[in-house]
Amino acid sequence: MPDRRPYLAANWKMNKTVEETDAFLAEFLLGAPGPDGPEVVICPPFPALKTAAELCAQSAVRVAGQNMHEAESGAYTGEISGPMLAEAGATAVVLGHSERRQLFGETDEALARKVPAALAAGLEPILCIGETEEERDGGETEAVLERQLVADLAAVDGELDRIVVAYEPVWAIGSGRTATPEQAQQAIAFVRELVRRRSEPAAEHIRILYGGSVKPDNAAELIALPDVDGALVGGASLDPSDFAAIVSAAG
Ligand code: PEP
Repeated sequence: MPDRRPYLAANWKMNKTVEETDAFLAEFLLGAPGPDGPEVVICPPFPALKTAAELCAQSAVRVAGQNMHEAESGAYTGEISGPMLAEAGATAVVLGHSERRQLFGETDEALARKVPAALAAGLEPILCIGETEEERDGGETEAVLERQLVADLAAVDGELDRIVVAYEPVWAIGSGRTATPEQAQQAIAFVRELVRRRSEPAAEHIRILYGGSVKPDNAAELIALPDVDGALVGGASLDPSDFAAIVSAAG
């Protein structure tokens, strides 16, 4: 069994001001794991990124952006680039979250450019993929995962294990309807198989997370599944003690 360090990411979405970020981290960092524990990544909104990075600097906790544009700079009003995220102290970036795909028209074509741009900026992409309820009911889950993963990683060459993949069934995000352990394990084992088609060593080392209504009371069971290497947590990551309990479940 390869030694994959558990990975927990807190996706705050459009929540928490700088002041609230400060208050969260003042509490959370007191009990945060060190370099030998699970890897913990906080994804605050852009304005709180630099503060979060500075507050986490003396800890093993890292910070990530929630999105980025593929260009380094230019006439893209409202966008932010990989080098800008890195300068603010981010070491990772969430890409392809279903809210970006569904609400803001994020496409697999754009993600195929964003993933290598993130790597070029020295950022670890946390690539989100997942099926809708309709697609699951129609028996299309594996086809959707394959289509998204193959397209989004099409331009990545030889750096597959620098990527973290989050399997997030759209119907489970923010709904309180967590995937069953069987559903999570089956989908994530399939994603690992897709990576194996490209590279056997990368398939052993790549971290694949589950995301979708992970809470303190279901985290341990999900993270213990053989192919599940951690969790991408939305709602429950907004409370420092809830997120700390999820991190403890991994480690
Ligand atoms: C998410 O935002 O990626 C997510 C999984 O949210 P929640 O944990 O609230 O379902």
